[in-house]
Amino acid sequence: KTADPALPLINDRMANVKRKILILSGKGGVGKSTFSSQLAFALSRDSDVQVGLCDVDITGPSQPKIMGLEGEPVHQSNTGWSPIYIEDNLAVMSIGFLLPSTDDAVIWRGPKKNGLIKQFLKDVEWGSLDYLLFDTPPGTSDEHLSVVQYLKDSRVDGAIVITTPQEVALADVRKEVNFCKKVGVKVLGVVENMNGFVCRKCGTETKVFAATTGGARRMCEEFGVPFLGSIPLDPRIVECCDRGVSFLDEVPDSPATHAYHEIIKKL
Ligand code: ADP
Repeated sequence: KTADPALPLINDRMANVKRKILILSGKGGVGKSTFSSQLAFALSRDSDVQVGLCDVDITGPSQPKIMGLEGEPVHQSNTGWSPIYIEDNLAVMSIGFLLPSTDDAVIWRGPKKNGLIKQFLKDVEWGSLDYLLFDTPPGTSDEHLSVVQYLKDSRVDGAIVITTPQEVALADVRKEVNFCKKVGVKVLGVVENMNGFVCRKCGTETKVFAATTGGARRMCEEFGVPFLGSIPLDPRIVECCDRGVSFLDEVPDSPATHAYHEIIKKL
């Protein structure tokens, strides 16, 4: 089998990226894109740290909205596509920027998706980065395999798996962890999202996924992968994502904020 001519070009781009991290989830709607965006915002608070966020969720690219960049045009030059900068040290690229309208669903078959992912890795001018975060589609599909394969020489540093405490979500985490093992990507850890809701009026904590709370931690022990922590449900996260602003900056003191910071410290 002849080597893909794109590989050396991808390797050249990726040679300037220190850490490449995949954000995975077994199911949709567990908070994977939210986590990716908040992690990107948080890492970029240190102005010496260069951060890139690459949204390869072709079926539902949500980063343009969450990062407050909806409708931004991507510039193409003869050296590639320039990502969109939120700050000097925070750049975002998303399939969503390339769609004619935010309501356009992308119904593409595998080869076309892979072609676009290849183009993303080969053509986006990230420059030098400390972190490149990949927001991926839910599950383990062609897109994940493509990313891992195209980055095989430059290596993915690890994956963070996001889940809710629900049993059905946890079952899918097992698949994600197995996928990582199979393709040789280190699991940096599992984040349990939307674990518990504290009523701001009466202070009562409700375990929204009561029956299985703690399941993610147990599963991590079983698999021998790090458990990174639990983030509670907080409606202000939704509100900040809808406005395209950083929750951690907007709500600096809340259990969810502290949980986020504790998790980020471990990465
Ligand atoms: P995914 O990328 O896994 O499909 P999203 O990141 O789009 O999921 O999150 C799904 C929804 O849940 C979004 O509306 C998001 O704002 C919300 N959400 C994510 N995490 C939390 C949380 N900890 N508390 C409350 N809402 C959250």
